[in-house]
Amino acid sequence: MNQTNKGSALIIGGGIAGLCSAYYLLKDGWKVTLLDSGDLRDNCSYGNAGMLVPSHFTPLAAPGIVAQGIKWMFNSKSPFYVRPSLSTHLISWGFKFIKHANAAHVKRTAPSIRDLNLLSSHLYDEMAEGEDFAFELQHKGILMLYKTEKMVEEEIHLAETARSLGLDVETLSKEGVQQLEPNVKLDVLGAVHYRCDGHLYPQALMAQLIAYIRKKGAIIHEHTAVTGFEYDQEKLQAVIAGGQKFNADKFVMTGGAWLPEIAKRAGLRIPLMPGKGYSFMYKPTEHQLVHPSLLLEARVAVTPMNNHIRFGGTMELGALNNSINMNRVQGIVEAIPQYYPDLKVALPEKKDVWFGFRPCSPDGLPYLGYSKRLKNLIIAGGGGMMGLSLGPAYGKVVSELANEQLSSADIAQFSPERFT
Ligand SMILES: Cc1cc2nc3c(=O)[nH]c(=O)nc-3n(C[C@H](O)[C@H](O)[C@H](O)COP(=O)(O)OP(=O)(O)OC[C@H]3O[C@@H](n4cnc5c(N)ncnc54)[C@H](O)[C@@H]3O)c2cc1C
Repeated sequence: MNQTNKGSALIIGGGIAGLCSAYYLLKDGWKVTLLDSGDLRDNCSYGNAGMLVPSHFTPLAAPGIVAQGIKWMFNSKSPFYVRPSLSTHLISWGFKFIKHANAAHVKRTAPSIRDLNLLSSHLYDEMAEGEDFAFELQHKGILMLYKTEKMVEEEIHLAETARSLGLDVETLSKEGVQQLEPNVKLDVLGAVHYRCDGHLYPQALMAQLIAYIRKKGAIIHEHTAVTGFEYDQEKLQAVIAGGQKFNADKFVMTGGAWLPEIAKRAGLRIPLMPGKGYSFMYKPTEHQLVHPSLLLEARVAVTPMNNHIRFGGTMELGALNNSINMNRVQGIVEAIPQYYPDLKVALPEKKDVWFGFRPCSPDGLPYLGYSKRLKNLIIAGGGGMMGLSLGPAYGKVVSELANEQLSSADIAQFSPERFT
């Protein structure tokens, strides 16, 4: 590795965004320090569905989502919930979300999201070739399974858009999709197979990234929450964390769903809403799945990994709290046999349910780029439902920006201060 004197970089947050930033900065010769408020054994980057999703070119703020979301709010097992609150933060985020939930926004932003995801997928391939990595990266695509005529219509339309964006997508009949999953009976009308997508085992990826950056010289401070900043009109001078002061030449702010409160301490406004989701692992005895899938009507993600199947879902927008709503987990469990009648999955015990907070921006786009005001601060986050997928692209672009190089991706639409 090339430890030239590029300077020092301080990264806030050890989720996929922070770890991938460390990975590329170290490769480019930076001296890296990483701070995290936790112990790096759990955050949103661990229990997610592990899908790499160029297919998700439609941002969360897509047409129809508002009306659907309001309907779902009245069903305790539904996959979507907004915690009613008079919080000005939620109201302001909600107005911005509604403003962007339209076809023109999707059309304008889909190519940049696609490109960032494709870049990231390619970078995952490169990373997986390294001897320090074995995180079950596979490119079998994702099956978007549907059961209703309404969903067939919507998905076929979306698949046409995907094709027009150059993505590798195939529409499959009921028989066609069953052929791809010979071990498990399917009860669906068909599927769209996003062959451009991939999947991996997040726990292995995260552990290997941490080991790699330590090996390459990164200094990691666990249980060191950032509580303040020293800055002038133009630059960050220091980060205050765990009662210490940390100086650096460049600062990288990640922090997942906590990004707004961290940014606020530096005088920046970055709107984000935590979108809580749940997942659990299931050990199949005989019905081994070959492909990951999304059970579209139920909004449930299904991913084979580590000889198990991970089921995940729900989006509870609102507060950062540690409560587990078993009704919503029950909603996930009940959806499974509707698509896979052979899979008899019992409700997991509460202790076996994982939850994490997706960092959801109001326009569904990530935040990636330099702060306009604090010229030595780079921000990476807001990946929402595709934050794992975007990890290496975040890291690569962060390092290119730190090096004052042209970035591999067009990040004009991802400006971190676009709402100020
Ligand atoms: C059920 C579920 C399924 C998902 N499936 C997928 C999927 O299939 N594909 C996909 O691409 N994405 C998926 N996601 C989304 C993805 O997991 C997230 O977008 C991504 O992990 C966010 O990464 P991050 O690094 O931005 O944040 P995180 O992983 O949350 O990391 C943030 C870190 O910042 C630290 N931190 C917080 N405050 C401070 C502070 N004050 N000082 C220092 N450190 C601090 C935290 O401790 C944490 O370690 C899913 C999410 C959920 C919930």
